[in-house]
Amino acid sequence: MAQKKRIIVIGGSAAGPKAAAKARRLDYEADITIVQKERDLSMASCGYPYYVSGAFDDRNQLISTPAGVVRDPKFFLNAKGIDARTETEATAVDRQARTVTCRDLRTGTVEVLPYDKLVLCTGATPVIPPVPGLDLAGITTLQSMKDADFLRRVCDEGRIKKAVIIGGGLIGIETCEALELAGIDITVIELLPQLLTFLDWELAKLVENHIRARSANVITGNGLAEFLGENGRLTGVKLQNGTELPCELAVVAVGVRPNVKLAADAGLAIGPLRGIVVDEHMQTSDPDIYAAGDCVECRSLITGRPVYSPMGDLANLQGRVAGENAVLGNTAAFPGTLQTGICKIFDFIAGTTGLSEAAARKLGYADIETVINANPDKPVFMGAKLIVSKMIVDRKTGRLIGYQAVGPGDVSRQVAAAAMAISGKMTVDDLLSLDLPYAPPFSPAIDHFITTAHVMQNKLKGRMRGISAKEVYEKVQGPDKPFLLDARGPDEYEDTRLGIGETLIPLGALRKRLNELPGDKNREIVCYCKLSLRGYEAAIVLAANGWTDVKVMEGGIAAWPFPREK
Ligand SMILES: Cc1cc2nc3c(=O)[nH]c(=O)nc-3n(C[C@H](O)[C@H](O)[C@H](O)COP(=O)(O)OP(=O)(O)OC[C@H]3O[C@@H](n4cnc5c(N)ncnc54)[C@H](O)[C@@H]3O)c2cc1C
Repeated sequence: MAQKKRIIVIGGSAAGPKAAAKARRLDYEADITIVQKERDLSMASCGYPYYVSGAFDDRNQLISTPAGVVRDPKFFLNAKGIDARTETEATAVDRQARTVTCRDLRTGTVEVLPYDKLVLCTGATPVIPPVPGLDLAGITTLQSMKDADFLRRVCDEGRIKKAVIIGGGLIGIETCEALELAGIDITVIELLPQLLTFLDWELAKLVENHIRARSANVITGNGLAEFLGENGRLTGVKLQNGTELPCELAVVAVGVRPNVKLAADAGLAIGPLRGIVVDEHMQTSDPDIYAAGDCVECRSLITGRPVYSPMGDLANLQGRVAGENAVLGNTAAFPGTLQTGICKIFDFIAGTTGLSEAAARKLGYADIETVINANPDKPVFMGAKLIVSKMIVDRKTGRLIGYQAVGPGDVSRQVAAAAMAISGKMTVDDLLSLDLPYAPPFSPAIDHFITTAHVMQNKLKGRMRGISAKEVYEKVQGPDKPFLLDARGPDEYEDTRLGIGETLIPLGALRKRLNELPGDKNREIVCYCKLSLRGYEAAIVLAANGWTDVKVMEGGIAAWPFPREK
């Protein structure tokens, strides 16, 4: 009788259990073991911020199947025939002998387990900045169930009044929301000039404005210098510019680094981004060892270069591929990532796929075109919510290479459509008449994504000359101020206005009031309105009447990230 295949999976959170379950589905007989350091298995880490915020109360929901069964070792044994060993650490891999040494963290017992195929899913560890005061009580991360339990207790007890979040990335922002909802006074500190660096500055600034409007404080361009404390407890943080902020709680969220010690000690190849090197089959430099999830670096689908993308969806997708290949040989592939991501912050959503403009330029894309589009996600009579999006296109190929969106509207749908378009190497022309699902509860007749492609087409064909809010802002501060035309109605102007020296001429009155425009037909004119649709129409009127340098401020007032007069 053929010997049963022995498959060991190290790591029992996202990628590990997915790999083990896939292997089981393909090989009923194999001996499959999960070795998991922590007490819990299959934790939905992405749900921690929502457990902390009180969106739900039963922590077991984070480790349960959709049917409500807790995924504990008994569940894995009975439902899946998998031996899941919790509180057990894999301490060494012997590739020659094909064994894994494990230590039971409860008893200290050491065991050596043989494998035919090994899958490494050891995840990542939060980066902790090396500053004084790290040992003070009150400093945490949000990376584990233990952290989530601690922060939930903090919220429930209500004793902490002030907290600082170090890091304005996805986890920092989600933690900001969770703690703010518990009534804690929050300051988010970010070393870089903006939050959420997967967005370009102007969209990130809209998110920052929204956070401030929810009364959380944001400090960008300033890093942490020191944790301050008394009697072993945190009392504040000191920033690099000397500012001191009192707080009783600090959550460090400045990124994660891949856990590769086991792999590196075993002599597996480690890549330039310090992740385990894998090919498209999730196979490491040892053909009997696969790896998946936050411990690996993978390939960008756009540039082909290695990227580190520690995301839950990728961990599951890669785990599935690794599990299949551990059983069948290299039949499945994970081609790479677009680094798609999304997060919620109060009533805003921020999402991205592909490259930002900043990333594209850094990578050497010299000939790109961008468009910012502000438009509702559905008709006004169905409760429209705004989406501000930015599309990035490679002019040489006409292909979409990046898309990002923020706002209270349905950003998720937009980013999903864009991810499909980039994966399919679609050009702007391909997007113009896409048949997306439409009915008023879900979208306008022409979806926001397609409208954005239409604006892009107008720009690429020279039918519209766009200018970003940032460029307008800079010009307004300088000596060569453009003529600024606000094409909205007087009521709207009374309600909201930029106050940057603009002239209000409603679109409907423009043809009769052309005498109020500059006499110099070559003077730069910037038209806008709330979303810049009327601004675009005003620009067409002016161009038709001889003005030669007419631009449209993309996204209009809705995408204006700077302070307004009103
Ligand atoms: C608060 C938070 C919110 C997030 N939100 C999102 C989101 O909205 N969307 C998204 O896509 N991603 C999100 N992520 C990221 C996502 O959770 C991770 O990408 C995913 O969990 C990675 O899964 P993994 O299995 O590779 O690693 P991990 O989840 O880190 O699991 C690795 C496991 O391996 C164990 N382990 C490590 N070394 C050993 C060893 N030597 N022996 C035994 N066991 C070991 C660890 O204890 C750990 O349990 C979020 C993460 C956090 C923390």
